[in-house]
Amino acid sequence: MSRFFCVIPVADAVDEVLRIAPPPARETVAVESAFGRILSDEVIADSDIPGFDRSVVDGYAVRAADTAGAGDAIPALLTCTRRITMGQQDATTSISPGTCAYIPTGGVLPAGADAVVMVEYTEEAGETVLLKKPAAYGENVLLRDEDFKKGETVFSAGHRLSPQDAGVLAACGYAMVTVARKPVVGIISTGNELVPATVVPVPGQVRDANAPMLAAYLADYGCIPRLYGIVRDEKEAFEAVLAKAVPECDVVLLSGGSSKDDRDMTAGTIAAMGTVLVHGIGIAPGKPTIVGQIQEKPVFGLPGHPASAFVVLIAIVRPLLDRMLGVSQPFQRTNRATLSVNIPSQRGREEYVRVRLEGGVATPLFGKSGLLNTLVRSSGLVRIPAGAEGLEQGSEVEVILW
Ligand code: AMP
Ligand code: MG
Repeated sequence: MSRFFCVIPVADAVDEVLRIAPPPARETVAVESAFGRILSDEVIADSDIPGFDRSVVDGYAVRAADTAGAGDAIPALLTCTRRITMGQQDATTSISPGTCAYIPTGGVLPAGADAVVMVEYTEEAGETVLLKKPAAYGENVLLRDEDFKKGETVFSAGHRLSPQDAGVLAACGYAMVTVARKPVVGIISTGNELVPATVVPVPGQVRDANAPMLAAYLADYGCIPRLYGIVRDEKEAFEAVLAKAVPECDVVLLSGGSSKDDRDMTAGTIAAMGTVLVHGIGIAPGKPTIVGQIQEKPVFGLPGHPASAFVVLIAIVRPLLDRMLGVSQPFQRTNRATLSVNIPSQRGREEYVRVRLEGGVATPLFGKSGLLNTLVRSSGLVRIPAGAEGLEQGSEVEVILW
């Protein structure tokens, strides 16, 4: 094996990742627990919503023409012939000229009525109602099918469901929906120096930051993270953990040991158990990244530095998750901002710079590689394309928010 990376562009690495992506799997879940899930099929309204013309206020259902010119000084006088009850259609004859009906919010507009005057602008005097404001045709009325029409596409396949979507789904007749099954992603931290958070590290040791960070991101992204703990830099240990994790997961992420040093076990182990497809990507940070496959399952070797691992997760692993979930829109919040200073960059590699965002201005946080603090003191990342020699002060950039 060569000591040097065969570095390929990010786009080519992503193509390779998408080539080995398992197809989306589906499952059916109750609408109330579908929040954050990705719809596998489009959602069609099963009926008109609302299914009838209804009032949007408490007031009097009227013929708009009967209220023309009404005001405080000269109110329109109409006879209230009935009171509409919630939850049922009033079957009595239509509102005739000179009459009106009391209607609560959401009540069925009676035949003959074409507007509603809010109760605030009225006064009852026995059977007569004084209307002190004219109503325009259609005022305060929600028309049948004004919200959604029967047969209309309410959500497309690939849409990520929000809490309010659950309400709309129920209104459209869905108690269950078909969504992408959550990919199970195995997480393995590697390195003789690593200890878990519960251990006080002695000099030479560091706590495993990657596993919880990757797990949290993946859970938020709609996956099921599965932790396999810390593995020592020994071939047998790598083989044992991969032999366990690969059959149990849809995707496996190893962090650390992804470079080309003799201590670095990841590439050799993946090659021995499957195939290494990519080793070295034109991305900074994150060049020593491996994409491979064992038993048809995608296996990634992420760099050990937490910031590098995170960038590779976003730039290289996330497209795989998007494909497996069938998402139409990557789930990524961004904000536009103006750069406060020049950011130099080496042409030929895609660079991800941590920036702090304040009042629409993005300021890079330059720091030594390996620092954790920039991960939390920054607001997100600015991507510098491989073809650019940097970004100029004052230019508008898109910040990928954490
Ligand atoms: P490696 O990629 O194994 O060469 O590791 C590069 C750097 O990242 C080393 O300083 C490691 O100690 C550090 N590192 C590797 N894995 C982790 C981890 N899980 N948490 C925190 N730091 C790590
Ligand atoms: Mg290591």
